[in-house]
Order: sequence, then structure tokens, then C-alpha cells
Amino acid sequence: MISTRDASGKRCSYSDVLLAGLAPDGGLFVPESYPRFSLEAISAMRDMSYLDIVFLVKSRLIDGSIPDKALRELITRAYPNEAFEVEHGQFTPVSPIGDGIWLENLSLGPTASFKDMAMQMLGQEMQYELERRKESLVILGATSGDTGSAAEAALKGLKNISLFMLCPQTGMSEFQKAQMGSLTGGNISNISIRGCFDDCQDLVKAVKKDPAFSRLGAVNSINWARISSQIPYYFSGYLQVAKKIGEPVDFAVPSGNFGNVLSGYIAKRMGLPIRKLIVATNENNVLEKLIKTGVYELSPSTITSSPSMDISKASNYERLVFDMLDRDAIKTAAYMNEFENTGKVALSDYGKSTAAFTELGFESDSSTHADRLATIRSVYEESTFVIDPHTADGVHVGRMHKKDAVPLICMATALPVKFEDTIKTALGFVPPRPTRFVGIESSIDKGAFTVMDADAETLKSFIAAQAR
Ligand SMILES: *Cc1c(COP(=O)(O)O)cnc(C)c1O
Repeated sequence: MISTRDASGKRCSYSDVLLAGLAPDGGLFVPESYPRFSLEAISAMRDMSYLDIVFLVKSRLIDGSIPDKALRELITRAYPNEAFEVEHGQFTPVSPIGDGIWLENLSLGPTASFKDMAMQMLGQEMQYELERRKESLVILGATSGDTGSAAEAALKGLKNISLFMLCPQTGMSEFQKAQMGSLTGGNISNISIRGCFDDCQDLVKAVKKDPAFSRLGAVNSINWARISSQIPYYFSGYLQVAKKIGEPVDFAVPSGNFGNVLSGYIAKRMGLPIRKLIVATNENNVLEKLIKTGVYELSPSTITSSPSMDISKASNYERLVFDMLDRDAIKTAAYMNEFENTGKVALSDYGKSTAAFTELGFESDSSTHADRLATIRSVYEESTFVIDPHTADGVHVGRMHKKDAVPLICMATALPVKFEDTIKTALGFVPPRPTRFVGIESSIDKGAFTVMDADAETLKSFIAAQAR
């Protein structure tokens, strides 16, 4: 693997990347080239289980870092049937909602967001590699909601890993707090910061700057292992919807950090016949503006009713722009530095136009609170499915871009149970709770959150004292 900002093209192994997160030069790791599947190879996946599809796709993306037999075991451990509400043996089932549009449910995992699927795999891969090296790893992360609980559910009890998860003291839904609160203990520490999500992220950066803490692992989607484990979602969705292998299918993806839809782009580069990749944003529409105008501009995020898409910048876009700039690391570093220094950068200053997005199939629009509510209502009326607010953003924007008979798959990125208040506003009732979540608010352990000021030194001493 190589870094998007390293002109020397120095190679790193998949397993080093797995444990490192960001590249030392501040870039993101990407494969040297994308492996390709022929249409015959894709046809052969048609009757395979989701786990077999994960195996085929992952084994082409890990540089032989994990032997086949071990990889199969890790996949089986990452996707135990009892931790997922598997429907008819399908981990990522699709359902038609009318007008040639399908929902692909990616949220059947332990914490009910699409982040579970890849996070479970990440945990198993990290533990495997650490055990092999006889090492341990401290992971420090920040969450405004779904990442925290998905990471904790995936890493809980893994012997060689200690996870410290920062969250803002206010802002998360009661349900999300309860999810994290009931996963604490052992190798998992929840830290509630007197501040906002940006303070949490700044703290992670401040701690990482200290050489004594330079070897911290990452569980956010800058970690390539998460991106690569999301690529199978697209293969699985395509195989369930395409009538004939080879015909085009479009995807609409509720987006924040650009991780999920980037995985779709890579699936396309690997030979999957995807036509459009429709990037749906909420009121925080950095990505919509970028794809429509070619200008990438930082903008302070506001809190919306699809909070997991409330971002001020989209970290994984760097992996796409590296390709758009012809994989020129010097240009990419200059482009990203301009963005980081001035908060704004135009593709046209780097010899490209918005055509670079169109050629790769990218389209984008945004959705508002009112659109979200109307979409939750209309999908319920037309199909009786209750969708969550993020999925509603995807369906709203997907419908805007549906112009012909090519099937459209909308990624369902969370279960509505996580966002009961918004569903109640839209439909007048609270969605039924899956049994595993009944009474979760009363299951928070006392002391499940250590409350702390936003101070790097306090945090460092806490980690030093608690880490295994
Ligand atoms: C994280 C998240 C998103 C955004 O995904 P990205 O990979 O960051 O673009 C969308 N919906 C839900 C429910 C999420 O938790």
C-alpha cells in the first residue's frame, strides 16, 4: 500500500496499515492498484453467502497479509449469526420500495448502524495481527454517536486491544449514550468530555502529537481496513438486484466522511457494473458543493436530525482526489495542504474540472429536515418500511436522480430505533424496538463514563494508567 502524499511511493504492508491508521506524512493509505474481477468472476458469486463474498473481495485487498485459512476464520468470527439479526441467511438483504428503487439494509449488526459490519471485521483483523506480533495496541477514538458503540461492540473482550472512546458530554441521543454505557468495562473506557465533538477530535490529535503516544491505533474510516470491508456491501447489493450480471445499477449513499460511498467507488474500479454513485448529504452539504462546483470548502457543521452525517470536512475524499489527480502524490499533498491551510481548494487550480466527478459516476444533492420527514412518511405509506433519518436523506436524493429504468439501490445505514424522536415526528409513532434493545436506557452501568475536561495532559495520564 502507498500513501496519498508520499511521492517516493514507499510501500507499506496491509498489516502495518491496519495498525497505523494515518500515514506518517499525514496522507491516507491506498492500494497501489485496484484488483479487478471479470464479469464471469462476479457471476460466480451469484449464489454465494455474504461471508464468501467478503472472503473473495477481502482476499484481493490485503496483499497476502493474512493466509486464506485464517482469513476465513476471522470472517466467521466477525459475523456470528447471534450478534446480527440475520434475515433468511442474508446479512445485507435488499427490499423493493417501488419505482425501481431498493433498500439495502446494512444495519442488522449489534449496534444497528452500517458501521458494525466493517468494524467487526476490523476488530478481528487487528487482534489476529497483534497476537501474531505479540504486541498490544491502544486505540483512541472520538465519536458523536454511531462510531463509538460500533467500535466498542466490535473490540470488547479482545485481549491485545485497549479502546478509549471520547464523546461530547451533550449532543448524543439517550439511546446512543445507553449503547455506549452498556458496553463499558474490561478493555473499553468511555470518556465524556466537557465540550463538543470538535473538542474530542482536537484532543485525539493533541495526544497523538506526543511521541510517547505516537503508536495509537485508529478505528475511524481513515483506517483502510474499514473501507476495504465495506466494499462487499456493493457486491452483495448488486448481485441481489441485477437481473443479468453486467447490467448497470446505481447506488445512493447517505454520506458524511465519504467512507461508505468511497467503498462503492472502489467496488466500481474493481469491475462491479455500477453506473452512478449518488452522494446524499444533509444540511451540512460540503460534499454536494464539492461535486457540483469542484470547490472543497470547510464549513462549520450544524446539528441536524441525521446527526451521523454532520461533518465539516469529508476525510476519505482524499483517497478519491488522489485518483482524480492521476495518483500524483505531490499534487495531492499540495491540494490537501491548501485545504488544510486556507479551508478551501478548487479542483480547477489543479488542472481538473467537475467532469472528473461525472466521469467516475458521482452525482450529489442534499436533503433538509422537511425532506427527511416527508421521505420517512412516503416510504412508510408506499411500502410499510420505517426508515431512519439518514436512510431518508439517501432515498430523497436518490429519487431526485432517478431518471430511467436502471435499478437504484439506496443504502440503509441505521435502524430507526436509534432515532425515535424524529420517527415520532414524522409518523406519529415510535418504531417497534428489536428485543435486544428493549430497556437499554436503564442498563447503563454506574461510572460507565469518566467525565473529564478537554485537557490533553489529563487524558494522557488516564490512558497511561488504564491501558493494558
Ligand atoms: C457514519 C454514518 C453515515 C456516514 O457514513 P460515511 O462513511 O462517514 O460517509 C451515514 N449514516 C449513518 C447512520 C452513519 O452512522
